[in-house]
Amino acid sequence: MARKIGSRYTAHQILGRGSAGTVWLGEGPEGAVAIKLLREDLASDQELVGRFVQERTALLSLEHPHVVGVRDLVVDGNDLALVMDLVRGTDLRTRLERERRLAPEAAVAIVADVADGLAAAHAERIVHRDVKPENVLLDMQGPLGPGGAHPALLTDFGIARLVDAPGGTRSTKVIGTPDYLAPEIIEGLPPRASVDVYALATVLYELLAGFTPFGGGHPGAVLRRHVTESVAPLPGIPDELWQLLVQCLAKAPASRLRAPELAARLRELLPGLAGIPPLDIDEPESDQPEDDVESAAAAGARDYPSAARAEDTPPRGAVPLVQGAKPDSNRETHTSMRVPGPDELAGGAHGTARTPRVAGERRAGSARHRSSAEAVRRRRLKLGAVGAAVLAAVGLGSWLATGDEEPGDARPGVHRPGTP
Ligand code: ADP
Repeated sequence: MARKIGSRYTAHQILGRGSAGTVWLGEGPEGAVAIKLLREDLASDQELVGRFVQERTALLSLEHPHVVGVRDLVVDGNDLALVMDLVRGTDLRTRLERERRLAPEAAVAIVADVADGLAAAHAERIVHRDVKPENVLLDMQGPLGPGGAHPALLTDFGIARLVDAPGGTRSTKVIGTPDYLAPEIIEGLPPRASVDVYALATVLYELLAGFTPFGGGHPGAVLRRHVTESVAPLPGIPDELWQLLVQCLAKAPASRLRAPELAARLRELLPGLAGIPPLDIDEPESDQPEDDVESAAAAGARDYPSAARAEDTPPRGAVPLVQGAKPDSNRETHTSMRVPGPDELAGGAHGTARTPRVAGERRAGSARHRSSAEAVRRRRLKLGAVGAAVLAAVGLGSWLATGDEEPGDARPGVHRPGTP
């Protein structure tokens, strides 16, 4: 059923649902468009609407072949909508779920595209802050590139920051998705362009391996690994590609390549990757099988209220975008939480990486592989018990802690001058 969005656009049919709202196939004066209609609770937030309008110029100014262009922002009655270029294709998460792992050439071609898009944004002092496969769209109508990869475009610029500070609350909340969060964000530093490079390197690792380097288990455990663990080598990965990954996953932001360098280096590697099949590896075991969940919950469950509930234990990395909000997508992967204290980060930390293995070498009993219904049920019961205890102890509301925000962080999604 058609629906009017402002005076110039009509939404025709739903293309997909995300954590911030619903994306529609629509039409405007210049033809087909994608319209992201923000969730009602976000659209009715006057503060957010104000910042949305404030962000207009930054969001509209970013034009690049590897960035999904924002054409218009519409505030109309209860509707708050972002009108975007229509990308006819799929998102990278969907492709990854279908194929599990990508051949190195295709993975590198896709990530090089995204790095190009990021380079353009960083040149405008815009930091994305939520680079992940869900935010990479593959243009199936575009020309095939190396490894048969379709052109990749980065989307959702500024959205993470925009929707994550409801009511203008000045807070020390971490914004992003646990699996892709750079360690310096977890430690409370303001996000620079290098956080996007870290997240993109994480995406590359995931495309090659089929899992993220520090993901798995409770979000608190994931955050801790970002800060304390080193990345485990991927058996069979070409050495130069591995060196590049390691450099961009460095804990120290200054050690990482910048986005333009990353794009250039990846493209240099492409010819040497032609014909290499997807890596044949298994996900590593958990460092703390069942206890990982338990100790992480004990350390940080007050930061992740939904993760502490027995009934709706979220999938990996999934925490509601806004406190109390029910996700409108089962692929919700966004988090908004208090910055953990140093003691929480240090608690039970392991300095050594968990090592992925060649397929078939898996040891029985790994928590990260225990995907049977029985294992899930046991984990839920355990989480529920731990969560209930923690919730009782700290109270439900304490996760939304507030504090001083970085001065340079006041404008959503826009990087302050002098902080490249
Ligand atoms: P998420 O919150 O998971 O990032 P989005 O709300 O951005 O999801 O998008 C939801 C779905 O809508 C995506 O999976 C994608 O398939 C589709 N979509 C988003 N933006 C566009 C676009 N510009 N063109 C075509 N499809 C889009």
